[in-house]
Amino acid sequence: MAKVWTGPECDERQALLRGGVISILGYGNQGRAQALNLRDRGFQVVVGNQDDRYATEARRDGWEVATLEEAAGRGDYVVVLVPDDVQPSLSGLVEQMTRGQTLCFASGYNLAFGLLTVPEAVDVVMVAPRMIGRSVRSRVAAGEGFPVLVGVFQDASGQAQDYALAYASGIGAGLPGGCAVASSFTEEATLDLFSEQTWAGAITFFLQACFEALMAAGISPEAAILELYASGEIGEIGSAMASRGLFGQLELHSTTSQYGQLTRGPAFVTDTLRQQLRDRLEEIRSGQFAREWTQQSRAAVLGDLLATRASAPLEEAEHQLYRLLGRR
Ligand code: NDP
Repeated sequence: MAKVWTGPECDERQALLRGGVISILGYGNQGRAQALNLRDRGFQVVVGNQDDRYATEARRDGWEVATLEEAAGRGDYVVVLVPDDVQPSLSGLVEQMTRGQTLCFASGYNLAFGLLTVPEAVDVVMVAPRMIGRSVRSRVAAGEGFPVLVGVFQDASGQAQDYALAYASGIGAGLPGGCAVASSFTEEATLDLFSEQTWAGAITFFLQACFEALMAAGISPEAAILELYASGEIGEIGSAMASRGLFGQLELHSTTSQYGQLTRGPAFVTDTLRQQLRDRLEEIRSGQFAREWTQQSRAAVLGDLLATRASAPLEEAEHQLYRLLGRR
């Protein structure tokens, strides 16, 4: 069993960060949410960003925006919240950090795969929200917490774990419904990549294949797209899984639906699929995936992949429907 800290156990370490400066490097999904949560909860925060689009948003939110280098130099607790594939480009700034500073990541990716090195004298921790940035902000605004995975990569002060728990509390993870779970940079990175490359990637293409089967059977595109994802039912089911459990949520479906799901669902999980899950894990653990992604040019490759992998008939039908529904 992993060690799990409740909200109050995180909150009792908050004093470690009070009086110090927390530097948030990057003002995107997580950066904005975490910075605003910390400010609302009375912590002293410096936002660092390049002087462009996100810096403008930060100024609109009332921050004086420092450069990334300046912010990293001013922080007692420095949180790296730029995209994972950008983080190695901050190595110069990371190397300048000195004893007494704590370096924090929201993902284990770069240290797990050896893509960034850190000075020996600093604490290096991970506080990884299991929540998208928008919800990190909206949940805390509503008085609710969220789960985080916490890890220690380097404990120079002997108190690195306590600093990580204090930070989890600072961003509001410890509010009711939240907790901190002991993990490691490698475990977090493995889990994150595994989810992204298995069910999360599969669901998009599975729904596209369902759409193609329904079109071939003469079903209207509007009805098919609403049924498959546009109604938002898929999100409601996900939310019921979180609150009632994976199978516990089945009782919310009709008895006919439950029978269909329980008899036809398991057949999709073939030996080939189980082998693919093992293969994905192996690719992740060996660092093969990280090496592949490092060699890609992000902007070029993502645009090309989207253009070639998304089905044109589905995109066209979705566009028509979403215009009718006022979503576009
Ligand atoms: P975003 O993609 O939202 O980050 C955008 C920020 O990064 C902006 O401030 C942007 O500033 C800055 N940035 C982008 N490119 C560069 C660059 N080349 N040099 C300097 N700054 C740059 O990141 P996320 O919030 O999605 O992810 C941040 C971390 O949080 C990652 O480690 C991720 O794994 C982790 N995480 C993310 C979650 C999420 O909700 N997305 C969930 C849990 C963890 P600008 O472009 O203006 O320079």
